[in-house]
Amino acid sequence: MTRPVPTLGNPKNTIEILNKYKFVFQKRYGQNFLIDEHVLGKIIRSAGITEEDFVIEIGPGIGTLTQYLAASAREVAAIEIDDALIPILEDTLSGYDNVTVIHDDVLKVDLTRLAEEKNGGRPVKVVANLPYYITTPIIMGLFENHVPLDSITIMVQKEVADRMKTGPGSKDYGALSLAVQYYARPELVANVPPNCFMPRPRVGSAVIRLTRHEKPPVEVQDEKLMFGIIRASFNQRRKTLVNGLGNAPELHLPKEKTAAVLEEMGLSPSVRGEALDLAGFAELSNRLKKILE
Ligand code: SAM
Repeated sequence: MTRPVPTLGNPKNTIEILNKYKFVFQKRYGQNFLIDEHVLGKIIRSAGITEEDFVIEIGPGIGTLTQYLAASAREVAAIEIDDALIPILEDTLSGYDNVTVIHDDVLKVDLTRLAEEKNGGRPVKVVANLPYYITTPIIMGLFENHVPLDSITIMVQKEVADRMKTGPGSKDYGALSLAVQYYARPELVANVPPNCFMPRPRVGSAVIRLTRHEKPPVEVQDEKLMFGIIRASFNQRRKTLVNGLGNAPELHLPKEKTAAVLEEMGLSPSVRGEALDLAGFAELSNRLKKILE
């Protein structure tokens, strides 16, 4: 099987395509296209793409990363929201017979069904230079909807990459850190400066690889309850856990019950959620579940 060598991924060919189609960048869609072959190669290598793989790409843009994925994978499905990019993708991907472009909002696509149809329900690899404005809902959606995943290799804002890796005691620690670490092992692949994109973003970026755990690192009886507790704790970050959970109507957790459980766990009644690690939230939710039954 010989597939064309990628042509995009450098400023000259990117500008040529943009001019050919008189493309106008849409700020609202977070469009920053990669123009650095070195970074593209690094993404493909760290994602470990092989000829066996079915890959989902979110936001192909003009098809830069898509060309690299198509050259290495068995099959690629690329989901793009912007109407103006569809004819461009037809052009830039015309040499590849293993790419399907899905013209839709990724948040509305049933990715579990896509994995079922294209990969027989086996774990898929997700690779993307994500639109930064919806990074968190995309990642949370992938995990919480139980899309069968092998790994997610993504370009995100540097600060978001930091949030995924951190633990208690850092200002970056929050619901995203806990969700990512419950479902996956995060590894920083590379820091990527603004000059690797067109147009240049105002912030630094990073490639991060999230490798799905075969089994979560903690035992949780009710994931929905644990993530409800985590969200409520960080929605009101400065409040004590007792008050934060008591103020979340969807949880139905009377303050005295939370206080009693914290005491059982040897924690102060004035402890804040941000002081608990993943094991702490797992224990708290398992104990509260017992009380609520
Ligand atoms: N992959 C390309 C690259 O690396 O050069 C483009 C990356 S650009 C940061 C993000 C892409 O996501 C844009 O093409 C944008 O139109 C697309 N996008 C934004 N919101 C989207 C959504 N809700 N669903 C699907 N694609 C979206």
